[in-house]
Amino acid sequence: MVARAAYHVNRMPITIATLEDAAVELNRRAAVATPVDARRAHKAAAERETNPLARYVLNSLVDNAELAIVDDRPMCGDTGLPRYYVKVGNAAQVEGGFAAFEHTLRKAVALATQAVKLRSNRVHPLTRRNPGNNVGVFAPNIDYRFHPVGDWIDITAVHKGGLFGSDYRMLFPGDGIGGIKRFVVDTIAAFHRRGLACPPAIVGVGIGGTKDQSFTLSKEACCLRLVGDRHPDPTVAQLEDELLDLCNSTQMGVMGLKSQTAVVDVHCEIAYTHTGGLPVGVSELCTAVRRSTVRLFNDGRIEFREDPLWFDAYMRREGVDFPNDAAGLMPAASPARQEVN
Ligand code: SF4
Repeated sequence: MVARAAYHVNRMPITIATLEDAAVELNRRAAVATPVDARRAHKAAAERETNPLARYVLNSLVDNAELAIVDDRPMCGDTGLPRYYVKVGNAAQVEGGFAAFEHTLRKAVALATQAVKLRSNRVHPLTRRNPGNNVGVFAPNIDYRFHPVGDWIDITAVHKGGLFGSDYRMLFPGDGIGGIKRFVVDTIAAFHRRGLACPPAIVGVGIGGTKDQSFTLSKEACCLRLVGDRHPDPTVAQLEDELLDLCNSTQMGVMGLKSQTAVVDVHCEIAYTHTGGLPVGVSELCTAVRRSTVRLFNDGRIEFREDPLWFDAYMRREGVDFPNDAAGLMPAASPARQEVN
């Protein structure tokens, strides 16, 4: 009986009241405060820019991001589409279960639309009916992953803007890395040339998996990794560096101006794929980098942070088993991560 009492004490659920308050605040932070890694990247881009007009606009981006924080207002008039990425520790518990959890995340978007003054962007795709609260069928998107240890839930809110800048293609295995590079650069050039993007962007490239996986990975890669972060697989990391140089060689930068910085970073994720194909997805996160993460513990603690810590060794595991080694479960240390945390 004593052991059972201790078991219950250690596994208190995350309360709905705590979750609701945290989720509304999370959406406020995402809309208002551009993360430090993105602000640093935009500042660095302004400092190295040689086109005076592009430098002027890049500096305006930096000023705008800082003023939004001071004024506590959304950093772009188009506040994007609120969505959530949720990582659940294996020992996490929620009052009312995960149906109550989802209900609360949806309610928080409606509350934040009023409280933070998010633009009500979500409409019925055919009738264009606008409920006015950014909540509707499959809206907000909520994506889940799981973690083998932890009495916590990580919630990352992303308010992704940018209607364009994304594409998908099924390449052949023989197209190889050269074909991937060509597709990525063609995509960036096509959208930036037509003004259908707000550069400088963060590009995500999903390589392999199934068709839908490659595109999902591309979106997660651009939204959920810090600028400067590199994939732990050296082959993938090298491709990230090469794609960054290639994308910037287009010189299609901020406001359509000639610029050294078309993109501030390129993040690639891979998934094992069909032997007969090479699906590739490309997504761009516009200059409005809007994400914020909170960790809710079973015992009531709440920790807000800027690094989503989404991709980790467990998520990228190979094979059936994963060594139950806590050190191996976390993302590899990178200069980008050390600077922000
Ligand atoms: S693409 Fe991004 S920066 Fe441009 S208007 Fe939309 S949210 Fe704002």
